[in-house]
Amino acid sequence: MIHTERVHQKISLDTDVFDYCVKRAKMNAYEPVLLEMANHIYSRLGLALKSSNYFAMFYEEQTDSEERRNAELFLLDGDIYFFSYKSVEYEYFEEEDFFENGINLMIFSKHKSELSKKLNRFKETIVSSLVSSDMWYEYNNIESPKSIEFIKTDSIDWAYFSSNKELYLKYSLPEYSEEELTLSKFLANKDLRDLLFFIKRSIGVRKDDLINRYNKNKEVNIEEMLIKLSKYNLIKKKILIQCKRTKSNLTRIEVLGREEKKMLKNLTCPNCGDSFMDELHSDIYSATDLANTLLNSSHWMTIVVTDTLTKYGVNNKCIVWNLMDKSEEVDIIMKYKGSLFIFELKDQDFDSGHAYPLSYRRVKYNASKIVIVTSGNVSKEVKKMFSELLNKHTRDEWNRLDLESMKPIYIEGLEELENGIKRVVKVARLLEINKCFEEFESITNIDIRNIFNSYFELYDKQELTKVLSPSNLLD
Ligand SMILES: [Zn+2]
Repeated sequence: MIHTERVHQKISLDTDVFDYCVKRAKMNAYEPVLLEMANHIYSRLGLALKSSNYFAMFYEEQTDSEERRNAELFLLDGDIYFFSYKSVEYEYFEEEDFFENGINLMIFSKHKSELSKKLNRFKETIVSSLVSSDMWYEYNNIESPKSIEFIKTDSIDWAYFSSNKELYLKYSLPEYSEEELTLSKFLANKDLRDLLFFIKRSIGVRKDDLINRYNKNKEVNIEEMLIKLSKYNLIKKKILIQCKRTKSNLTRIEVLGREEKKMLKNLTCPNCGDSFMDELHSDIYSATDLANTLLNSSHWMTIVVTDTLTKYGVNNKCIVWNLMDKSEEVDIIMKYKGSLFIFELKDQDFDSGHAYPLSYRRVKYNASKIVIVTSGNVSKEVKKMFSELLNKHTRDEWNRLDLESMKPIYIEGLEELENGIKRVVKVARLLEINKCFEEFESITNIDIRNIFNSYFELYDKQELTKVLSPSNLLD
């Protein structure tokens, strides 16, 4: 598995400063791949390599232009580092523009541990080079290197949403209490959830009726489940008082204490004339406000999915809930490793009626990937529909990756949630690596895949094959 981390800083550089940084990094043992390649060729020819040669070899003619892009790869201790610069004025008119304007630093490593520490060291090397070059001060008008703060790139780009005047968006932040999380996990149990739904719909149901009417075919212990639901404050018990003769409802009370008994004795039934105290008393159950909150719009599912995402390394700053545009709603939207994911959650089977609006949303938000999480199954028709959509377009290789990603990730059944989320995180990682390759190639005209292939082959060929093949990228 290849691990990655990226940071970004929106800052302006001169062409000479980029070259200077590369050379300084080399002095600090980071081996620059392109520069060494150029050096090698020139020394074979018996020539000395000049900066202008290096730039002419890999980067487009950009001396007169304000709009520049440069990129270099470095090797150190088995890890690959990536340093790219895109001038702040640079405007790229293609849809996908993976690296932001300014400086982007990234690490690719076989090892997860010390990833941030290593990237930090690399960052310090670049920053100290910047600071020691006098050209740079002039350019940026920044007084101290301390003011150069790099930003982690794993967060939602709210600027996109807020600047898009066509969309009138509302959303909520992924906030939940420990209690809500515990209860949401508890509600992942279908029997308990079904029973709670039944109680919620009944708005006060007698225990005996519940046992008689609730799903007789089911081999479930209702008594036991009721105890659990009460214990977790999802249902509350009340006492229903009915006329013995007519069975009409007289009143409901929370508890039958001394005060209540006294009050009931003083009330007489309009039907039979008996005191309320002597009428029929039975326990009834209703859902609590907490239960309603968790069940409405399958909120419990949103919590469980979010919690699983954070468990597998997604920062909850990358997540937003219930993104609404008029009547259109996305359950969970996640920007992770540079890709936007739309989650559709269904506490039922997912059929073709659900599929079309989802395709629309994917295009609307320009999402990289759809994830469908169901408590049941995804219908064969839906899977067929997404596959056909894909086959129609696969002839155009340029768009292949983009179209491949139209095929959603299916997570069918909550017992599959952990594995499914692991897959989501993995796909995000592979998409990031792939986008990085593409951008590097667009800057340098060098297919970085070959370099990676040879380099990481030493480690984990299987993993890399997956990275390199778009068809394997997105299952
Ligand atoms: Zn009565």
